[in-house]
Amino acid sequence: MMLRKRVLVTGGVGFLGSHLCERLLAEGHDVLCIDNFFTGTKDNVLHLLDNHHFELVRHDVTFPLYVEVDEIYNLACPASPVHYQHDPVQTTKTSVHGAINMLGLAKRVKAKIFQASTSEVYGDPHIHPQTEDYRGNVNPIGPRACYDEGKRCAETLFFDYHRQHNLRIKVARIFNTYGPRMHPNDGRVVSNFIVQALKGEPITIFGDGSQTRSFCYVDDLIEGFIRLMASGDDVTGPINLGNPGEFTIRQLAEQVIAETGAKSKLIFKPLPQDDPLQRQPNITLARQHLGWEPKIPLKDGLKRTIAYFDDLLRRMKVEAAS
Ligand code: NAD
Ligand code: UDP
Ligand code: UDP
Repeated sequence: MMLRKRVLVTGGVGFLGSHLCERLLAEGHDVLCIDNFFTGTKDNVLHLLDNHHFELVRHDVTFPLYVEVDEIYNLACPASPVHYQHDPVQTTKTSVHGAINMLGLAKRVKAKIFQASTSEVYGDPHIHPQTEDYRGNVNPIGPRACYDEGKRCAETLFFDYHRQHNLRIKVARIFNTYGPRMHPNDGRVVSNFIVQALKGEPITIFGDGSQTRSFCYVDDLIEGFIRLMASGDDVTGPINLGNPGEFTIRQLAEQVIAETGAKSKLIFKPLPQDDPLQRQPNITLARQHLGWEPKIPLKDGLKRTIAYFDDLLRRMKVEAAS
């Protein structure tokens, strides 16, 4: 029989957090979702609010939190460059002070703790595809540093709490993930391109579009989270979670145009500073330790994501008209 656990999800009303809360409830757990609503919205969890096993609390992880839980998923942090560069000091505080508070909590209640780290710890990588032992090429003083270095410091804290206090830690390095409930205006490439295509607006390619990313559909990623949390205590990570399928940004634009049937033109804008030129996960460790690999190809995931944004944009239009 499965044991009902009390699970804390920080950043729980965000894109990934809301899918995770849903999955944990479906597995029969009690979910405590905390969020300061900086980038996430209550709309993402409206359908969960009637569930007695779901609790939503407004809280900022940079402040201490005293609750009793068995497991913690620490996802709180804005993830899109537009959002995390909006208030860079707060971004670093969220990653670093947030990690300290959640680790302190995990230490006190002896909870297992998961950290949503990122492929950004590899920066603009010299090793391709990226393996977990690659130490990265991050500019510590550039506009992306508040996020990249904040996440790197959080990893340091996780491993020091593990070594110093025997905490059970699970560090996932997440590569670009997409799907329903991404914020329509958060500036990430998949949501931008889909929204532009559905509105018949030009698609904005930064640089010449030859830079690459590897896109993982959200359901695949959440399966990876669950498996990592359930793995033996010796599996601490860091472990790459992402889809190894690598595409240029131009290919992504063309695929979005094909799937939406849009007539949008491609327009080219300057490449932002420190924008990584290539990114692809090596997921050998995840295959070995978690028996995990993504199942949903980009084409299928895009179809589902396009259907979500199509519906969202229609609803927004109706609301604006009424
Ligand atoms: P998101 O912006 O949709 O969600 C982040 C959530 O954290 C939001 O609901 C936001 O309101 C909340 N938050 C921000 N600061 C907070 C604070 N100080 N206290 C409490 N809540 C706070 O982003 P997402 O894509 O769901 O990302 C979730 C996590 O996964 C982040 O930690 C992100 O760095 C990591 N990640 C995501 C991706 C991706 O492609 N989606 C890739 C790598 C890493
Ligand atoms: N903390 C928390 N909830 C807890 C326990 C601790 O938020 O249940 C925070 C607290 O603010 C503390 C931080 O976690 O500053 C780190 O805790 P730790 O016990 O590691 O260190 P210390 O209390 O000695 O600073
Ligand atoms: N990008 C783009 N057009 C957009 C938004 C992003 O060409 O409208 C590019 C961006 O420069 C980067 C890639 O798409 O090379 C992925 O950007 P995103 O912000 O989604 O994620 P990250 O850079 O953090 O991987």
